[in-house]
Amino acid sequence: MQIITTKQEILQQVEACKRQHKTIGLVPTMGALHQGHASLVQRAVAENDVVFVSVFVNPTQFNNKEDLEKYPRNLERDAKLLESIGAHFVFAPTPEEMYTAQEMNTTFQYDFDGLDKVMEGKMRPGHFNGVVQVVSRLFYLVQPTKAYFGEKDFQQLAIIHQMVERSALKDTFSDLQIIGCPIVRQADGLALSSRNERLSESEKKLATNIYKTLKSSMEWAKNATVKEVEQRVVDTINAIDGLEVEYYEIVDQTTLLPATDFSHAIGCVTVYSGPVRLIDNIKY
Ligand code: AMP
Repeated sequence: MQIITTKQEILQQVEACKRQHKTIGLVPTMGALHQGHASLVQRAVAENDVVFVSVFVNPTQFNNKEDLEKYPRNLERDAKLLESIGAHFVFAPTPEEMYTAQEMNTTFQYDFDGLDKVMEGKMRPGHFNGVVQVVSRLFYLVQPTKAYFGEKDFQQLAIIHQMVERSALKDTFSDLQIIGCPIVRQADGLALSSRNERLSESEKKLATNIYKTLKSSMEWAKNATVKEVEQRVVDTINAIDGLEVEYYEIVDQTTLLPATDFSHAIGCVTVYSGPVRLIDNIKY
């Protein structure tokens, strides 16, 4: 496995792969890797000749300076994990390598057909512009056959699908297949997240109530309306000292618009444990 830090080297390696007609898998990450990321990389290794994993804490998608500064970073440990899984290239550029000063400070405006107006988009203005800025740049550089994203960031996955399949960029990425991968959880149900590293053991234990509540809501949904279930989830999590819900929205899995019933619906939650922001979801 080779660690690459410049765009020029990436382009050279990608060109060599293309010359040999190799299929390329790409897994974009922000590092501090765990078994959730590993599941994406394992699938990419199984389905492609060559796998590139990017490890880049993308400053343009953070709208909270403290979150960016405190985001865990450990390239050495990440590289060991990726090598053990069989990834071929790790792309770990600096922000300066990735962006010009102007690009770093410009607010990009992509049209997401409204998908960015709800949930994460509403709470984190500009977040998805930053995500698409970095993901589209990675797609241009790596020219993957398949790119892998987790369903844990369900809205992000919906927006990437939109970009590749329905936006003005769709012709550019017409050969690219986006693969959504299931959420990997601890045995106690807590969704794996790099941000969990910022929680103490007791906070982690409290945070297991997030998924427990989502699972209970599957039962509640049998005898209640969407609005009633949303409210009960919020009330149940907020009743736990140390957890505070930012939003719980039950939406259509494709449009992300508020669901009127539970068919094809997904519930997406964001919960604060102190300053740490945790997200999770459940399909009804
Ligand atoms: P991140 O490093 O948080 O930007 O995540 C990189 C990719 O890994 C994204 O596509 C995430 O959705 C995915 N991912 C993160 N956590 C998990 C998890 N617990 N299960 C599955 N995929 C995940």
